[in-house]
Amino acid sequence: MAEVAVSNVDGVLAEVRELARTLIAPGAAEIDRESHFPREQLSALARVGALGLTVPREQSGLGAGLAALASACEAVGGACASTGMVFLMHSVTAATIAGGGGPSAAALLEQMASGAALGTLAFSERGTGAHFYAPELRAERRDGSVTVSGRKAFVTSGGHADAMLVLLQSEREGLDCYVVRKDAPGVRFEGSWNGLGMRGNSSIAVELDDVVLDDGARIGQAGGGADLVFGVVAPTFLVGLAAVNIGIAQAALSAALEHAGSRRYPDGSALVEVPTVQHALANMDIDVRAARTLLQEAARLGDAGDAGALVALMEAKILCTDVAARVTQGALEVCGGQAYTPALPIERHLRDARAGAVMAPTNGVLRTWSAKAIAGLPIP
Ligand SMILES: Cc1cc2nc3c(=O)[nH]c(=O)nc-3n(C[C@H](O)[C@H](O)[C@H](O)COP(=O)(O)OP(=O)(O)OC[C@H]3O[C@@H](n4cnc5c(N)ncnc54)[C@H](O)[C@@H]3O)c2cc1C
Repeated sequence: MAEVAVSNVDGVLAEVRELARTLIAPGAAEIDRESHFPREQLSALARVGALGLTVPREQSGLGAGLAALASACEAVGGACASTGMVFLMHSVTAATIAGGGGPSAAALLEQMASGAALGTLAFSERGTGAHFYAPELRAERRDGSVTVSGRKAFVTSGGHADAMLVLLQSEREGLDCYVVRKDAPGVRFEGSWNGLGMRGNSSIAVELDDVVLDDGARIGQAGGGADLVFGVVAPTFLVGLAAVNIGIAQAALSAALEHAGSRRYPDGSALVEVPTVQHALANMDIDVRAARTLLQEAARLGDAGDAGALVALMEAKILCTDVAARVTQGALEVCGGQAYTPALPIERHLRDARAGAVMAPTNGVLRTWSAKAIAGLPIP
């Protein structure tokens, strides 16, 4: 039984890598230039079963763990960071719904596995910012339903995702996690994404105006939202985002190597023969390998349920996003002025890599949490 599951996951990962090479990477410059949402890319990922990667097998998914998610996110994110971001948020949402369960969970997961429903998280708010686990949405409860009002910021796949998860203060203590449907009365998306990078990820605001959610839309136990956030959302998101960023870093390094090898001076020598360029390339390769190794270790610990997984996962997100920023800058310096223009994909990789550090949990917050965890202090 286990063997079948593993070979299915491996088969889908191989198809994802092939799609990344043949369809997703070739379309990435246009998605970036036009700020297009990667609809065609998602359909292709759905066709090979990748949108069910983190959906349990009982709901027609693959039931894959963190290591497989890392492989998929690195391949997709390296080909197109916007597509990687959208794929990542869908996969985290599916894992969270599966982890919490609830009356509507199984049917929604079936739709998510097939690609009939795209998922995302609407956790961030302008007010609470990096502290997304302290939501300010207004929630009024009566007769088995809750009426929700407020504004969410930075919803990846906003206006495109069919189902988004929100956190509310629970009636008694803690947080509740609910599914909000895109077409529910009172849901209104606003604006368009005009960020530095990830130009196709449609990370926009949503206004919730007296949106009525019945108890069947709750994911997990009443008051169990924080356990979901720290037990499922955090590990899945940290691994996926770290992997998207390793993909970006590897793509920038590969582009720099190709350019440095092919760019020739009038005397016939190549850019790659310049000793300082060689040192820069070696440092970039060391950075990427080291960060990927930590990520793989963190994913392995997370899949094994190891008590030390959380620190490794937090540090992997910090290192991989920092490395993506550093390596894309290194690629720019290796390739010079041409890399500052769309003639090479490096300026896109550089812009895409700037998001990782400020995405919650931000690297600033994670450094504090990591230090507290290794010092034996409670987090957050
Ligand atoms: C491309 C993109 C996609 C996104 N997609 C989503 C999504 O799908 N869903 C979603 O919910 N959110 C999403 N976000 C939101 C993202 O998670 C927010 O950027 C994040 O919550 C930070 O919010 P803020 O800008 O208000 O930061 P602020 O809270 O204003 O923080 C500003 C800076 O101060 C630092 N800081 C604040 N408090 C502390 C502290 N206590 N310790 C250390 N440092 C601190 C932070 O690290 C940060 O760098 C996305 C963001 C981007 C850029």
